[in-house]
Amino acid sequence: MQPHALLVPYPETGHINPLMQLAIHLASNGVCVTFVNTSYNHQRILQSNAGRLPSDLGLPIRLVDVPDCLSENDNRDHDLNNLTKVIANVGHPLEELMDKMSAAGERITCIISDIAATQTSEIAKKRGIPRVAFWPPNASVYSCFCHAIHAISEGTFPKNGIVRHDEMISFPALPSLPGWKVPWMIGDEATANLIFSTGSEGVAGAVDAEWILINSVHELEADVLDAIAPHFGHLLPIGPILPLDVLPTALTTEKLMTVSLWPEDDACLEWLNAQKPRSVLYVSLGSIAILSKEQLHEVAIGLEASGLSILWVVRDDLTGIKGASLPQGFLDRTQNRIRVVSWCPQLLVLSHEAVGGFLTHGGWNSSMEALSMGVPMLVWPHLGDQFLNAEFIVAKWGVGLELSHGGTKDFIGSKRIESMVRKFMGSHEGEVVRAKAKEMRQQILKVVAKGGSSNNNLQSFVTWVKHQAE
Ligand code: UDP
Repeated sequence: MQPHALLVPYPETGHINPLMQLAIHLASNGVCVTFVNTSYNHQRILQSNAGRLPSDLGLPIRLVDVPDCLSENDNRDHDLNNLTKVIANVGHPLEELMDKMSAAGERITCIISDIAATQTSEIAKKRGIPRVAFWPPNASVYSCFCHAIHAISEGTFPKNGIVRHDEMISFPALPSLPGWKVPWMIGDEATANLIFSTGSEGVAGAVDAEWILINSVHELEADVLDAIAPHFGHLLPIGPILPLDVLPTALTTEKLMTVSLWPEDDACLEWLNAQKPRSVLYVSLGSIAILSKEQLHEVAIGLEASGLSILWVVRDDLTGIKGASLPQGFLDRTQNRIRVVSWCPQLLVLSHEAVGGFLTHGGWNSSMEALSMGVPMLVWPHLGDQFLNAEFIVAKWGVGLELSHGGTKDFIGSKRIESMVRKFMGSHEGEVVRAKAKEMRQQILKVVAKGGSSNNNLQSFVTWVKHQAE
């Protein structure tokens, strides 16, 4: 029988992208994949990637959709409460989908679902199918949940996960963090509690999973992995799940496959072709960060004053509402020097030789992508795991500088932005992190090459998936 995996992501870009890269890897190795998105995301993917979906390129990946549990006018982009509800309630529509597939004679041999999709665990058990949990962030964030669960059982951590913002929190093998930097301390108390309960239920439920796939590298987080292994086993670091074998040659061969929720502006690659090597600062804050209009304007003024060549992703909804607007005259004044796009093919941008640095929010995918391409980071974390990631980028790995004063969440003025991007792109300190980033790329290339830890783990996993169909 042909192995057939059902893949179910959390409905956000930072989760869909790495799971799709895993799908591509499985499909390239003889596994048939059904990839399930919500109807809202499915439509966006079809519209944004017409003609270059994995199936258009001959891979056995079928994209299907299921309805979400939200009302018509609910916010499906930035409301963490809604997104969490969607993944928690994916069970029923998934069962209907699987019934239809089975009536059509299709047999799923393995479910790979986001750790938060706890209902898939029950479905898998009921139908006698093995379930694998997928965790797109790093092992450190995973370990925060593990240690909190353990501490709650010992009565030494608040049951609702809510900690005081100014209290220093210490988890084994991790730097101490002030409460506000703990990964689930997002938004108001109700939101933070919802994220904590969804994450901790997912982590606790994953103890039953056959594997817990982590998009990270064993060598980067060995101490953290060792500290949780006795209680929360089956962890398999397989990252970075990126098509590093075709990058950067993909720039010329167009072999790269991604699916995006936004249409990508490919013309920015031509603009990069006309820039000097390592001269461009790439600026992007990922798919969910929101800036106030005032903060967006300060960034624009700071970037303009820096005098640097810049490729800047300004998502249409960067200020939380459709139509993010830049200061008057900005685009006319800076048009040959600052290229503004609403979404770009980030992997191709980071692998372009013109890019010399990345001003990033420190999302885990963006961090792994920059590490893999040897691009240093000027990090400006906004929420969730980004604060912990920033600690690694700056203090542990030395591949970046921090934009804000001491990592605070405060408003950042244009003068600070101007001086920090200049320092990052043009000073000795910038050179030091650039050299370190290049070294780090070599380390990453080793782990994904034949015989490397992530390569070995991924190969064992593919063999295991195929074995489930025997
Ligand atoms: N990304 C992209 N084009 C852009 C900006 C981002 O393709 O213009 C991709 C990026 O390559 C990464 C993902 O969006 O894979 C963002 O994920 P990350 O974990 O860095 O941040 P999040 O969006 O979850 O905050």
